[in-house]
Amino acid sequence: MTDEPKRDITTRLVHGGERRPLPEGASVSTPIYTSVTYTYDTMQEIDQVFSGEKQGFIYTRYGNPTTAALEDVVRDIEEGAVACAYATGMAAVHAALIACDLKSGSTVLASQDLYGATTSLLNSIFTTFGVKTVTVDYSDINLVREKAREIRPQVMIAETISNPLLKVCDIEACVEIAHENGARLIIDNTFATPYLRQPLKLGADIVVHSATKYFGGHADAMGGVVVSRDEMDRAALVSVMKLVGGVLGVWEAHEILRGLKTLSLRMERQCDNAKRLAGYLREHTGIGRVHYPGLGALVSIELKETTQDAAFRFMDRLKLGLRSTSLGDVFTSVLHPATASHRDLTPARRREWGIVDELVRISVGIENIDDVIADIDQALAK
Ligand code: PLP
Repeated sequence: MTDEPKRDITTRLVHGGERRPLPEGASVSTPIYTSVTYTYDTMQEIDQVFSGEKQGFIYTRYGNPTTAALEDVVRDIEEGAVACAYATGMAAVHAALIACDLKSGSTVLASQDLYGATTSLLNSIFTTFGVKTVTVDYSDINLVREKAREIRPQVMIAETISNPLLKVCDIEACVEIAHENGARLIIDNTFATPYLRQPLKLGADIVVHSATKYFGGHADAMGGVVVSRDEMDRAALVSVMKLVGGVLGVWEAHEILRGLKTLSLRMERQCDNAKRLAGYLREHTGIGRVHYPGLGALVSIELKETTQDAAFRFMDRLKLGLRSTSLGDVFTSVLHPATASHRDLTPARRREWGIVDELVRISVGIENIDDVIADIDQALAK
């Protein structure tokens, strides 16, 4: 019995079923907390949560229990001090750069192989605010060292495995170069995932992920996560959430949290599949060159026939492999870098960087690899 007055049906419909006490048993999986805001018994409690004296949630742009569960797992597997989730991988890259306190006059030393949108973010938005970006080939570590000494960057940024030529970054060497020059090192670990590499353990300062790729793994949720080794970055990362507002949706947080449960299994299978596929492709007479670094679940190929038309014909003939722009999903998919991820570069720059017209990137899924090979075989045979 409650001492609440019996209210009108309209009021009861509005408030009925809400704010019930949590069940005694802990839920086995994290519920999707769709509530935008949280209420407390007293104003004093709200005041304490606002001031940080008491733990709690206030408003979903400031933090949400479902998203916090995801942040917790990613912080743990990347072995960092703090993790914040954002609406997309690009929002996460932006937040990481902001956390490094870039301001007018700062310089960024970026890998020339960065994901195209990251390069564009630096060269467009950050340039507008007076931040200068210099790019260099991170696979030539002596060149990176020389450039860093010359320009004294505030931030260095690279990807663990580059796209689409799959060059592996020497993270330990980059850490040494960054720190001897007073720079912070941001590593985009999307392609490797912490299953293969944990850049913070190797000394990097900040790790970013497009959670849209391997973390989610099913092509049904976009998201991004930043993990820092330094608790001091929490204020800046939370500020970007609160003030820029590109927070992760709770449904996506749920999908990605669920995806992470099978990350190891998927990566193990996808990496094995990629290795088998690379071995098959190396022996194929229709292939000029195979880019496969010996780890990861991506394989890039250059067809013997060096035209865009040949690449398109091969891709069009695939019956199992999907022609789509993402990667890291359970499905095997193919992408033509010259007309997709690297479309905005001039043909001369593409050639200089090795993004040739006959290059096709394959993101290997979890299917039975014999079926994937048979599909590629028939597409190459015609
Ligand atoms: N980083 C890498 C390496 C990517 O491949 C991508 C997207 O393809 C991103 C960041 C951006 O992620 P999102 O598409 O989730 O914004």
